[in-house]
Amino acid sequence: MNASSVVIDRPLPDWPVIIFLGGVHLFALSALLPGTFSWPAVAVALVLHWLTAGVGVTLGYHRLITHRSFRAPKWLEYVLLFCGTLACQSPLEWVAKHRMHHRFSDTAEDPHDINRGFWWAHVGWILHKLPCDRSMGLYVKDIARDPVYRFFDRTMLLWQLALGIVLFLIGGLPFVVWGMFVRLVAVYHSTWFVNSATHSFGYRSYDVGDRSTNCWWVALISYGEGWHNNHHEFPRSARHGLRWWEVDMTWWMIRGLRVLGLARNVILPRCRSG
Ligand SMILES: [Zn+2]
Ligand SMILES: [Zn+2]
Repeated sequence: MNASSVVIDRPLPDWPVIIFLGGVHLFALSALLPGTFSWPAVAVALVLHWLTAGVGVTLGYHRLITHRSFRAPKWLEYVLLFCGTLACQSPLEWVAKHRMHHRFSDTAEDPHDINRGFWWAHVGWILHKLPCDRSMGLYVKDIARDPVYRFFDRTMLLWQLALGIVLFLIGGLPFVVWGMFVRLVAVYHSTWFVNSATHSFGYRSYDVGDRSTNCWWVALISYGEGWHNNHHEFPRSARHGLRWWEVDMTWWMIRGLRVLGLARNVILPRCRSG
């Protein structure tokens, strides 16, 4: 056993991340207190969930930036990057670790290896310092030198703070509780379920050599990312839902962008048409 495998077995807790995520979950619970609920606040949370998790993380971070499933104008890429930043997830770390996941899927080098258990694949890996943190730069050479990426990566929390202030000025405490904290918790878990649930539950259309699955309810809360077994078979495909009933809202967005001339070179699975 070498030094690095010892670290893999006993990763150190990442206390700033634990405190931050614990705090976000704690503040989200304040939605149960009197005076923090309003229907407009719930609507704001739903719209911001779509904008940050759907447009930012799924369409931007995942299908465009990580896999280059389609080509888009640089300004649009930066807009999607900004929306993802508002999901409070580091773009450089997100892209690097997702590329590692595809390369080492369900092995010890996979940052969220499902063989370490559901909790680890869901969030445990985020709460620890991992040996692979040191090699992240190797996986984001295409974007790490871009000053816009570095700027948004560094200022991620400031944008979240600015959003919180804007929400407070518009709708007071309910908008902050729902639009920021409840929304962030929902964004985090809908993203994390793609790493945990869709390597645990559901059906498999392809024997891809790992434990990835297709899971309808993850697809619904993550804008199509739940068709994860399809995605492991065709990682560069812009379309993840391949059967007519595999609802893939992000694919609809990409089709819309293509109609507007904003998405070109859209990659689709072999032998299938879009
Ligand atoms: Zn996977
Ligand atoms: Zn992927």
